Amino acid sequence: ENEARRKRRKGDAGKKTVFGARVVVDLGFDELMSEKEIISLSSQLAYTYSANRRSSSPFSSLLFTSLNGRTLTRLENVGDASYKRWINTEWWTEGYEKLWETDSAPHAVASQEPSAEGVSTGLQVTGEAPVQQITDAVDSGETGTSVEPAELSAARFKASKETVVYLTADSSDELLELKEDETYIIGGIVDRNRYKNLCFNKANGQDIRTARLPIGTYLSHLPTRKVLTVNQVFEIMLKWVETRDWEEALHAVIPKRK
Ligand code: SAH
Repeated sequence: ENEARRKRRKGDAGKKTVFGARVVVDLGFDELMSEKEIISLSSQLAYTYSANRRSSSPFSSLLFTSLNGRTLTRLENVGDASYKRWINTEWWTEGYEKLWETDSAPHAVASQEPSAEGVSTGLQVTGEAPVQQITDAVDSGETGTSVEPAELSAARFKASKETVVYLTADSSDELLELKEDETYIIGGIVDRNRYKNLCFNKANGQDIRTARLPIGTYLSHLPTRKVLTVNQVFEIMLKWVETRDWEEALHAVIPKRK
């Protein structure tokens, strides 16, 4: 069984098509969450990472910003800080504003480039297989096997403000498609709908675009502005990249109501 799984993974590795759009998870909301919610958020980050690893059409890299408070503490204490060994992820103590601010490079907490040798992450994700032992470096064609200095990897993440879109259920703009030259921000918060418009207001205050997933358009039994979790939103984006079909992508992730 293990061998079958390994073979399948190997087979998939050759067929990976990396999608160039960047995804950022904004972890700047620590003080708004209970301890339980911080724990839940940390699990969602692991699911997000795991989904990108497993996908046949992954995003080239995942950037986590504002990792500097209780979420950092939680991640440090789970699985011997396994987040530091997550492949193709980047972690900044600073906010995502550094994407378009040019004065200085952001400070990387940890940055993991693809490795041909394989890295084992010790993190156990409940209700699912643990994050797989990684033997297949994502074939992006542009990423090497050496670890870049933080300044260089930061440059790789530069984005003009016009190409940044904050995803939020509260937006009046519907997401029509994902574009490879855009950067999509997901709010890293678990709040069980306590803070309506939180991310929407943050994005508006910074004059960056917002968009919501086209849920009402394709899933008529759900409210247009249904709020999903971080990993659900990310998995829908992954599925869209794979299928270019919102209905399929949404159905794959949101369980149908009986
Ligand atoms: N009250 C929070 C909700 C957090 S849900 C807020 O103000 O956003 C976690 C994140 O998932 C959100 O910040 C958003 O980036 C993303 N998200 C959740 N549902 C979404 C939807 N329907 N469309 C687009 N993004 C969504």
